[in-house]
Amino acid sequence: MPVETDVLIAGGGLVGASLACALGQAGVRTCIVEALSADGDQPPGYDERSIALAQGSQRIFAGLGLWSALAADACPIHTIHVSDRGHFGFTRLRREQEGVPALGYVASARALGKVLQQGVQQLDTVEVLAPAQLKAFHVGAGGVQADIEHRGTVTRCTAKLLVAADGAQSTIREQLGIRTTRRDYRQTAIIANVSTDRAHNNVAYERFTDSGPLALLPMTGQRSALVWTVHEQHCEEVMALEDSEFLQRLQQRFGYRLGRFTRVGKRNAYPLQLLQAAESVRPRLALIGNAVHTLHPIAGQGFNLGLRDVAALVDVVLDACHSSRDFGELPVLQRYADWRQADQRRVALFTDSMVRLFGQSLPPVAWLRDAGMLALDICPPAKRWFGRMTMGRAGRLPRLARGLALK
Ligand SMILES: Cc1cc2nc3c(=O)[nH]c(=O)nc-3n(C[C@H](O)[C@H](O)[C@H](O)COP(=O)(O)OP(=O)(O)OC[C@H]3O[C@@H](n4cnc5c(N)ncnc54)[C@H](O)[C@@H]3O)c2cc1C
Repeated sequence: MPVETDVLIAGGGLVGASLACALGQAGVRTCIVEALSADGDQPPGYDERSIALAQGSQRIFAGLGLWSALAADACPIHTIHVSDRGHFGFTRLRREQEGVPALGYVASARALGKVLQQGVQQLDTVEVLAPAQLKAFHVGAGGVQADIEHRGTVTRCTAKLLVAADGAQSTIREQLGIRTTRRDYRQTAIIANVSTDRAHNNVAYERFTDSGPLALLPMTGQRSALVWTVHEQHCEEVMALEDSEFLQRLQQRFGYRLGRFTRVGKRNAYPLQLLQAAESVRPRLALIGNAVHTLHPIAGQGFNLGLRDVAALVDVVLDACHSSRDFGELPVLQRYADWRQADQRRVALFTDSMVRLFGQSLPPVAWLRDAGMLALDICPPAKRWFGRMTMGRAGRLPRLARGLALK
């Protein structure tokens, strides 16, 4: 049966599902098309990785009425500790200095996905087609027509707006011929949950080492989420290590701030790149999340940035609805693109600069960056800026990111 909707979202990963929740709650008819089955072996983006949610993202989840369902699985971050292995530099950010109950929260992508799915299922304004694939689309004057392969047949879907939330390999972006700038970091992030014999006390550690950055994020159940970046040529070897050897290697890299590493869970590896799309809107089309910016996880910003795309796009769509305008028109969508551009560029630059700066082992560069870290630690305005970046509070914030409900 043909589907007629207001907004068609291609990709039901964390970002696409968040958008569907927000639009559906505001009464906008929405259809998500997701290639993977939610209860399959490889659910969409809801894998073993842990996501550091900025304080701004926590507000968005609260505004969507989903925070109470997630809170039990989300561990608050009270302190962020950044250090440079083998050098003198370090800096800390504390919740007391920022006057907030937590600088952010750590939740598993799986828990986030589950809460979003439940949120979507409660809405009769949202239709989910999964596993299904957006195969082709055509933009006409009054709407978009898309062909969706679902349960062995092709369904035609008509919408006012098509949103590409189809991730870093976005086929919609490719089909539109939107230019991208890419940087292959030649690094892989190895993730796993680990246990230590000392409590994490809600401290998130970011440790820069000569072989790449290593993050340990506090989790519920006194576990920590490890994100260990290694050069791509070492990935296979590190992934193949016996658990005991892996923990020993990790201990050498990280040190004893959390005591001894006692246990490691399943490991997964993610090749890393920076990708930025040159355009995020066309008539009746908008790109959000990883489809428009894919970042190195060094600063834990990718999903947070995508969630702010969601909040801004929702504001623009709802404003258009309130003034009886067609939200698929380019001038309306351009508001979203203009609004998001500065934040997207700033966070990509911040993240990429960190990778480059801490990838340098030349002594003068190492000395300067360590001096910079210490200066950051003792200079209140610099620290406030760092805090705003980390907590997702920089720039003009959409309604949801200010903690306001949509209705
Ligand atoms: C190791 C690691 C750690 C990270 N840590 C953090 C962190 O701490 N904090 C943070 O904010 N971010 C973090 N990120 C980034 C975050 O995971 C991503 O930014 C976020 O998951 C992107 O979500 P997305 O929905 O945009 O894209 P994706 O998760 O890639 O979802 C895209 C979806 O689209 C579907 N799809 C694609 N094409 C089609 C099609 N034609 N038809 C139908 N469906 C389609 C795919 O199946 C997929 O489910 C991390 C990333 C990595 C790799």
